[in-house]
Amino acid sequence: MADRCVCATRCGSNLCGSDGCGGSCGTCASGSNCQAGQCVAGCVPPWDPTWAYGPYPGDWWVEFKVAGGGVLTRAVWVEIVGRSTTSPLSYGFGRWAGGVPTLARGTSIILHARDALGATAQTLPFRYLVDLSPRTDPCRGTARTSTSCQPLARGMVTFTIDDSGRSQATVAVPLLRSHGVKATFYHVPPYLTWTSLARTLALEGHEAAAHTMTHRSLTSLTPPEVDDELRLSKQSLEANVSSPVESFASPSGAYNAAVIAAIKPYFRSHRTTVPGLNFVGSDVYELGTEFVLSRSTAAGVCAQLAEAAALRGWRVLTFHDFTTASTAPQDFTVTASVFDAILTCATNTPGLDVVTIRQGVAAIRCGP
Ligand SMILES: [Zn+2]
Repeated sequence: MADRCVCATRCGSNLCGSDGCGGSCGTCASGSNCQAGQCVAGCVPPWDPTWAYGPYPGDWWVEFKVAGGGVLTRAVWVEIVGRSTTSPLSYGFGRWAGGVPTLARGTSIILHARDALGATAQTLPFRYLVDLSPRTDPCRGTARTSTSCQPLARGMVTFTIDDSGRSQATVAVPLLRSHGVKATFYHVPPYLTWTSLARTLALEGHEAAAHTMTHRSLTSLTPPEVDDELRLSKQSLEANVSSPVESFASPSGAYNAAVIAAIKPYFRSHRTTVPGLNFVGSDVYELGTEFVLSRSTAAGVCAQLAEAAALRGWRVLTFHDFTTASTAPQDFTVTASVFDAILTCATNTPGLDVVTIRQGVAAIRCGP
């Protein structure tokens, strides 16, 4: 009688992995892991983050940097080899930190981490406060559980330019064009005196984004005032510069949960002024950025871009005003020569793509 369905296993020549019926074709011996149905000796870790001590490791307090693999790290914890308890670390200022109970220098520990897509990784055992750059145990990680998101395959950088200053049109735009770089301009419409050029730039693939109508701190306004700032800046830019306007940055980085809730109906992302790389799994309404100021050096910014490529993260840079003079007169002004040098390394750093905010958000957004 053929009135019952029986799952036919589909292992074929596969020695390991799913049999297609909820079971397994086999499991691999230690020292090897499953790749495309075959047990391969010399494991390839499903997630291979970069692990390093932060700048302030100490006897009762430890800080680790854990990043990379294109995905945001969600949890990090410390295992003391030979003990059953583990100590969770918490995240802040770009590193994972916490107290590990009275641990002697040189004690053997293992660091564990989980990323935003559910993958786990752990280090080979290493000596507490002695081995500064532990390595991933290639055979002990687990693959991601999310099917809706992909880690970044390459790093990304975005040039964001705020406040619509005149020097953006006269100094920055010719350099952007000569390097073939598309930027995201966070405009304050009443400050914008070069609307026609802004419209042309939008047609060329640059992004016009909103930055309120008056540049007041949104946390100091009433809810109806906040709504006006968001709605009217979007409407004005859509009518006069480009359509659609999807990205927003809050003036002076002043925001809170209520401001983010007000932003969401109008915009698909929000850039803050908080430093840090963005990854798959990062909150697109709290994008981190690095300000480029008069005291910034091209070498320093280029190192930030190289880090983004190495960790497969998304570096957002924020600029304001520009000058062709040899020195910048104010904090928020960058010389043309420094901007030119940063554009050169952005387009020449291996493993790094230049994207607009809209494109970057599409790349890191996780959803069904
Ligand atoms: Zn601004």
